[in-house]
Amino acid sequence: MGIHEHYEHFPIECRFHQRVYTGYRWQRGWVRRGEWPHFWGNPPQGVKPEEAEDVLVAEEQGEYTFYNAFETADLISSVSRMVEDVRSGKNKKAAVKKWVSEYGFLGANLGSDFVHPKWEALADFWREAETLADLWGKYKQVTQRDMSGLRGWIRFVELPNDGDPLIPSPEGSRTKSDFSKEPGVMSFGTADLFFSATLEEIGQNPLRFYQLAGLRYILVRINGRIKSLELNYTGVEKIENPQDDIFKIRPVLYPRTLLEAMYLQFYILLSGHNVKICKHCGKPFPLKEKYSKNRVYCSDRCNNAAKMRNYRERKRQQVFLPR
Ligand SMILES: [Zn+2]
Repeated sequence: MGIHEHYEHFPIECRFHQRVYTGYRWQRGWVRRGEWPHFWGNPPQGVKPEEAEDVLVAEEQGEYTFYNAFETADLISSVSRMVEDVRSGKNKKAAVKKWVSEYGFLGANLGSDFVHPKWEALADFWREAETLADLWGKYKQVTQRDMSGLRGWIRFVELPNDGDPLIPSPEGSRTKSDFSKEPGVMSFGTADLFFSATLEEIGQNPLRFYQLAGLRYILVRINGRIKSLELNYTGVEKIENPQDDIFKIRPVLYPRTLLEAMYLQFYILLSGHNVKICKHCGKPFPLKEKYSKNRVYCSDRCNNAAKMRNYRERKRQQVFLPR
């Protein structure tokens, strides 16, 4: 297996060798977070017994396999599906253990000592999984032209035309995207995108504006998560000439954790082109020319599965329709 085709266009090779242990089990324990994270099976001094939490632990710490995270494109979509399943009633601990048994720890509790994590607190895993799934769902809305979804979290607001110096808007901009929850309250953040179009003009042809604003938001969130990537190299090549010597290194980007690798994959998908997120399974799929006619599903299988689901949904609604 080599690098997955979705990442091949990226100019720098990316590698993350993820460790998957042969077994995992849940344990109650006490967690110290931060630079030197630690996990205790018995309460350490100065810690209250009731502060124990659920922690997933690698069973045989010497037994594991490796895989390169950049050889698969399923990581983000499978985490998103797991979050969805749990939200619709599946057992959280069982679902998390199943995912980790297949893909390994996210690395949410990794400290600055760069070792492979041997445990992960449920609370941290879940927070990270939900954050990533939420962002992936937003990206899905952008690629699927899901206007009602996009309207749920993106708004456009008019900028005051008195050139208020407290509002850092570029010259000539009349509106900006806004992500604050309360209508009427203007917030400012790094994800804001400014437009010279008026609110009325945006309203006339909204899709493009919502997509651009949404992508901007997603990119800012991703960038915040790939800051500690290590740019390194594998080997030095020497090209010998009679007079001059030419040296060349082969650059490689190394994420520190699986989570960081997943955000980097997200970034790489955005830096390519023609990728859409399947409306049914949530996997990214390339928009080859013969498929370019408004495809919403990655495969016939997902198309049929979605049809079946819609059919059952309609049936159910008919049953509960009041007379
Ligand atoms: Zn699909």
